[in-house]
Amino acid sequence: MIVTRFAPSPTGLLHLGHAFAAIVAHDRAKAAIGRFLVRIEDIDATRCRPEFKAAIFEDLRWLGLDWPAPVLRQSQRMAAYRAALDRLEALGLLYPCFCTRREIADEVARAAHAPHGPEGAPYPGTCRRLSAGEREAKIASNLPYALRLDVEKAARLAGPLHFEELGRGPDGETGIIAARPLLFGDIVLARKETPSAYHLAAVVDDAFQGVTLVTRGHDLFAAAHVQRLLQALLGLPAPAYAHHDLILDSQGRKFSKRDNAVTLRHLRESGVTAAQIRERLPLPETYPAPHRTAPAGPA
Ligand code: GLU
Repeated sequence: MIVTRFAPSPTGLLHLGHAFAAIVAHDRAKAAIGRFLVRIEDIDATRCRPEFKAAIFEDLRWLGLDWPAPVLRQSQRMAAYRAALDRLEALGLLYPCFCTRREIADEVARAAHAPHGPEGAPYPGTCRRLSAGEREAKIASNLPYALRLDVEKAARLAGPLHFEELGRGPDGETGIIAARPLLFGDIVLARKETPSAYHLAAVVDDAFQGVTLVTRGHDLFAAAHVQRLLQALLGLPAPAYAHHDLILDSQGRKFSKRDNAVTLRHLRESGVTAAQIRERLPLPETYPAPHRTAPAGPA
């Protein structure tokens, strides 16, 4: 049985792009007599708002989707993320990073040929090179810090990894893909103000919820490379992935949460029906089944 999910962040109203992602995940689960879950990714307390969370449920119900209760909210899962961090810490794979965004940008600008990652230049590794004494002194002076993964060390420990892709990556990749976990550099796994960050929370919760197939847009394709590494380090099962094409507006741009005209609420209030939304979206006619219907064992 496949278990898949739609995992929005309540930072704005859902738009047509979200409707597409949610319907694809829902229909894929139904086609396989599997389970469709909704997960609220609300670890960023500064950007997430309760009214957007309520709107997510309202919009998804209006689209005719159904999902089991209770819905997992990541803001309630900090103890689980803390435990995952402790495990990575015990493996000697985390280090505190005291850099401000500004310091990182300056450092990147100084490096003549900074490599480019999926989210711009990866972190230049400044705090990875601090001595134990320098670290202690900064911590003792109460400087706030994030926790970063020493990704090269982590990748060496995990060895070669692969993931299964049922959809289509941005370069047309499908099938069994060799993970390239170094893509993002030393990612942040816990922020100064929150003991978690996207990649860690997503991996921990996909495993906790028994997700066997991660359905999402191919703007998050690169994330699978580093998420696969985290699964291996944490001894978690590896789900398959189905990254779908993004729905673009008439100018060929990704929809934005800031563009009210394409929000589901606005469309509903202007008399558009859920059936018309489905007709408007290029939904697949069939859904391929994953190679494995159960998640692979821990790496
Ligand atoms: N919360 C993410 C978003 O709103 C999706 C994360 C995922 O599907 O892994 O884009």
